[in-house]
Formats: sequence, C-alpha cells, structure tokens
Amino acid sequence: MYRFVYADNAATTPISREVIEEMMPCFELNWGNPSSLHAKGREAKDILENARERVAKVFNCNPAEIYFTSCGTESDNWAIKGAAYKMRERGRTHVVTSKIEHHAVLHTCEALEKEGFSVDYVDVDEDGVVCVDKLRELVSDKTALVAVMYANNEVGTIQPIEEIARIAHSKGALMFTDAVQAVGNVEIDLGSLGVDMLSASGHKIHAPKGVGILYVRRGVNIKNLVDGGGQERRRRGGTENVAFAAGFARALEEATKKIPELDRVRAMRDKLIQEITKIPYSKLNGHRTNRLPGNVNIGFEFIEGESLLLLLDMAGICASTGSACSSASLEASHVLLAMGVPHEKAHGSLRLSISHETSEEDVDYIIETVAPIVERLRNMSPLWEDVIKQQV
Ligand SMILES: *Cc1c(COP(=O)(O)O)cnc(C)c1O
Repeated sequence: MYRFVYADNAATTPISREVIEEMMPCFELNWGNPSSLHAKGREAKDILENARERVAKVFNCNPAEIYFTSCGTESDNWAIKGAAYKMRERGRTHVVTSKIEHHAVLHTCEALEKEGFSVDYVDVDEDGVVCVDKLRELVSDKTALVAVMYANNEVGTIQPIEEIARIAHSKGALMFTDAVQAVGNVEIDLGSLGVDMLSASGHKIHAPKGVGILYVRRGVNIKNLVDGGGQERRRRGGTENVAFAAGFARALEEATKKIPELDRVRAMRDKLIQEITKIPYSKLNGHRTNRLPGNVNIGFEFIEGESLLLLLDMAGICASTGSACSSASLEASHVLLAMGVPHEKAHGSLRLSISHETSEEDVDYIIETVAPIVERLRNMSPLWEDVIKQQV
C-alpha cells in the first residue's frame, strides 16, 4: 500500500501550526519597522525583543547575547570570520575545526585559508566522534578559534562540546559550535556548556527557512559580517525579520518542550536500524547510541545511494544520501570518508531523519519498502553478480 512518508527532517522540516499562528499577526498587523520610533515601529520592536527574550530563556543566557540572522549558514560565517578577524589583531591566525563539519563551516574555513589563516581539520573516529586527543595537540597560543559542530547532520553523532571548549579556552582560543542539528534534540544550557558562540537555524526546528540565530557570549568581541544600520545592537545590519524571529522563538520553545517525548522517536530510530541492517552487506554509519534521536544512516554495499533514493521517492518515501548539498554534487560524503568508510561504500548510503510526526506505520512502511528496492538494485549490479557467483 502506498504511503507518503517524509523522512528527511535533517534537510528541512515542515512549518508547524503553532509557528504559523505565531507569525501571522506579524504579517497582517504588526508589520512596522522595529527601528521606527512611532507606535507601529514600537509594537514590532516589542515582538522582536520578546522573541529574543524567549530564545535566551530556553538557552539560559542573556537576551543581549542573542542575534537574529538570515540562516544557519550566515551565523556560521559570522562566528568563524568574525572571531578569526578579531583574533588576528592579537596575532592569532590559526583555526581548528573538524573534518565532518557542515559545508557552511568547512567552506568558510577554506575561505579563511585563502586569506592567510592556517586551518587544521581534526580527524574523527570510525563512529564519527571528534578525536579529542588530536584536537588537544593542535590547539596552541596561536589558535584564534576552535569550531566543532554539536551534532552531525549526516550521521547524527553528538560531540563532547564541553570538553572541547575547555581545551580551546586553556590556550586562550574562542570556541564556536554549530548547533543547528542539536537544537530541539539535546538540552542546551549555555550557562554550563562553555562555548563562546553557538548557531541555530529555524527551518530545522519547524520554523521557516531564512532565519537563524547566533549566540555570542557577553564580553566576546567579534567583527561584524553584515554592516549596515544600527540593528541588532549595531552588530548585524538589516531591517529585522520580526515575523520569523517570533516564529523561531515559538519553534524553539515547542521543540524544547518536546525533548522528553524524543524517547518515542529514539525507539522508532532503533527499530529502523535493527530491521534495515538485517539486509545483507549493510552497516550502520555513526555511533550506535550517541546519535541524534531521529537519525538513521545505513550504508549498503553494491548499490548507489542516488538510485536507492529515486526508487524510495517513487514509493512515497522522502530520504537522503547524506546532506542535501552533497546529494546535488554526487560526490561521496566527506563525513563518511572522514570516518574511514571506503569510497565505493560511501556512495551507497541512506539517511533517514525522522521526527515527532513520524508514526509507527511510517516506520513499518519504510522497513518493508527498503529491502526489496535494495535487492532489485543489486540484481542490476555487475558487482553483485560476482558476489553471488563466489557464494555458489
Ligand atoms: C542545515 C544546516 C546548516 C545550514 O543552515 P541554513 O539555515 O540552511 O543555512 C548548518 N549546519 C548544519 C549542521 C546544518 O544541518
């Protein structure tokens, strides 16, 4: 029986009813410019500052430490470039990041290299966890910034951020974490996490695309990325997107409220992993337990991930091979390669990212659909023919 199953929540999420309801008055009624001094401006300003306070409350930080941006990518760029340029003034021109970061971080670091910064990309182990000992060796009194993601978008591994922040600070470097995938999945307490900067994105937590935040700890000085008017305490120019800021705050509150309910999602994840890895020559990518509650990433030998996606799509299942960005480029995932997955196997991966909205029936449908498709694709593969011949 045909079903439509959306299992690509790591790429984007549908906008929730609550978020739409939160945003609607901002379009219809409170459309003023928050910088205007008149009544229409003041009401928009109130909504904006209220959104900032709500975000700060969830993260246990000060509202003055939260900046609204246009997306997660902008927040990542701002944190990394802003910190690097600032710290260069003190002779620090070295950046440490990991091999499994999102392209928003990796390509930003590569841009810094072209400007004369030196960047070290730390290895990860076979589960996709950053090698903390190697990182410790790399951080020095020349290091401006350590940038390590909180949770990986492809294989879902959660990183030891507190420990990494301590290492960064022991050498006087700043610590940034891209928490786009972690937010709403992990309790984040900025009072104890120890990072100087943290990014998040709206569309991964049921708010619209085109809104993000950057947390910058009080006292941490970074350069501006977007110069302009005096918005965001003169640190990020551009008339504020009041509706999306309000939507972001609501999405964050809702996602945080539902964190205890993630046990149900985790159980569905584990069922998917258990059942799908019964397929011969398949293997779970990433850590078995230390992974995002909704993340399943399984490698299949002797097939191409793209063909698998296409047939799943025809069966009504939206999935991914890894990140949406690398799917378009047909390159093997840099995350899987960094984890030591051989090139040919890195091409046959399937990422399912489920959510609170996923049902047991959806899970069963995925399980019963994947196996015959994998078999069908293998039967068309000359490599698979060799495997069968060797067995008889
Ligand atoms: C989606 C994502 C981003 C980019 O966020 P956008 O809002 O789409 O720019 C950055 N980092 C990670 C880990 C992501 O999953």
